[in-house]
Amino acid sequence: MGLLVQKYGGTSVGSPERIAAVAQRVSRAVANGDKIVVVVSAMSGETNRLVDLTNQFGGQPNEMHRDLVLATGEQVTVGLLCIALEKIGITAKGMLGWQVPVLTDNAHSKARIQNISGAHIEAVFEDHQVCVIAGFQGVTGQGDVATLGRGGSDTSAVAIAAAINADECQIYTDVDGVFTTDPRICENARLLNQVSFDEMLELSSSGAKVLQLRAVEYASKHNMPIRVLSSFSDSKGTLVEEREEMERPVVSGISSVDSEAKLTIRGVPDLPGIAAKILGPISDSGIDIDVIVQNISDENTTDFTFTVDKKDTSEAEKILQKTSESLGGGLIEVDDDIAKVSIVGRGMRGQSGIASKMFQSLADHEINILMITTSEIKISVVIKKDLMKKAVNALHDTFELDKNLDN
Ligand code: ADP
Ligand code: ASP
Ligand code: MG
Repeated sequence: MGLLVQKYGGTSVGSPERIAAVAQRVSRAVANGDKIVVVVSAMSGETNRLVDLTNQFGGQPNEMHRDLVLATGEQVTVGLLCIALEKIGITAKGMLGWQVPVLTDNAHSKARIQNISGAHIEAVFEDHQVCVIAGFQGVTGQGDVATLGRGGSDTSAVAIAAAINADECQIYTDVDGVFTTDPRICENARLLNQVSFDEMLELSSSGAKVLQLRAVEYASKHNMPIRVLSSFSDSKGTLVEEREEMERPVVSGISSVDSEAKLTIRGVPDLPGIAAKILGPISDSGIDIDVIVQNISDENTTDFTFTVDKKDTSEAEKILQKTSESLGGGLIEVDDDIAKVSIVGRGMRGQSGIASKMFQSLADHEINILMITTSEIKISVVIKKDLMKKAVNALHDTFELDKNLDN
């Protein structure tokens, strides 16, 4: 008998039929003797619909008010799943974030979980078989509803699993597990049996949306194993956990995103402190900066390019405009027609030649590289968006990811 957290994403609860199927899956685990805490997302498309609604009044809505709206998606699914469970004879208790409580900081729309008390969840099992909790939401110290950022139900599930000391956190989604790359982009993508936390961190941070980055960070910090698996099949999925150093393929996965925009400020004075002057105000306004490149353009001036999430483009451009004025000029260019493709692998550590193999492969496929950034186990390139699929497939072939036999 185990204590398991099972999280079901949007597609897995996308219709009454899907919710009934989830209830059946949960009831099989209950029959197996397991104690199950279920964490649910909103039905697929619902959070997007709610975001659109909040944008109907012009300008940027207050994030605290918006969170009140966005959190309702998950509330609906909690209630529907409890109804479906009771229909097949399983007693269930549904809870919203504030009832648990999942305590967060005040950063509305991207709140971080500060504490979860497991006592309330454990008490549910005294007179119910299953506890169903709304993902993606919590409550601030002031008692306001806060959401955790898009894809945040993954993080809710992992944090709840850690709080109740669960044996495993199972993330049910619409693909069979974590693949060598997004199976919707590359038909040769191969299902991985296991992935280490550090590889998954790099894959998630560079765009593999199958697990939200914060969920992986949380799991790694609390050493909570995650199993990613499909709610549409009986595949064993992928185990993401702390793994001992061992022989690993040089490249174990490829990720891609087309959700970033590139901003360039040209001809700024090439002086110590210029990077801080340009990027400081952007970070101070809460915008995450991803890839950064600085060029020498002539003896005294430099060009500075960086990427941000598309939703932050106009805010970043405004801030850059002000910086440009204070520096006495500097032309600003914005390009949101870009994509970032990254190769990730633990085996890359200490191996030379991986970057040049990647660049050669892209060159052979006539893919021009606009920006490059590396970490110990990742190399990312920014390219034109329409070449993203071609790049992912080319690199998948070059590094023979369909063939790695030991994973
Ligand atoms: P959910 O709604 O269940 O949270 P998401 O849409 O957030 O599901 O994440 C699942 C999707 O992640 C898959 O449908 C797939 O297209 C995408 N994905 C991206 N990279 C990968 C990868 N390496 N392995 C598996 N899925 C991936
Ligand atoms: N419903 C939220 C979203 O669409 C949270 C989640 O699905 O994880 O982002
Ligand atoms: Mg998700």
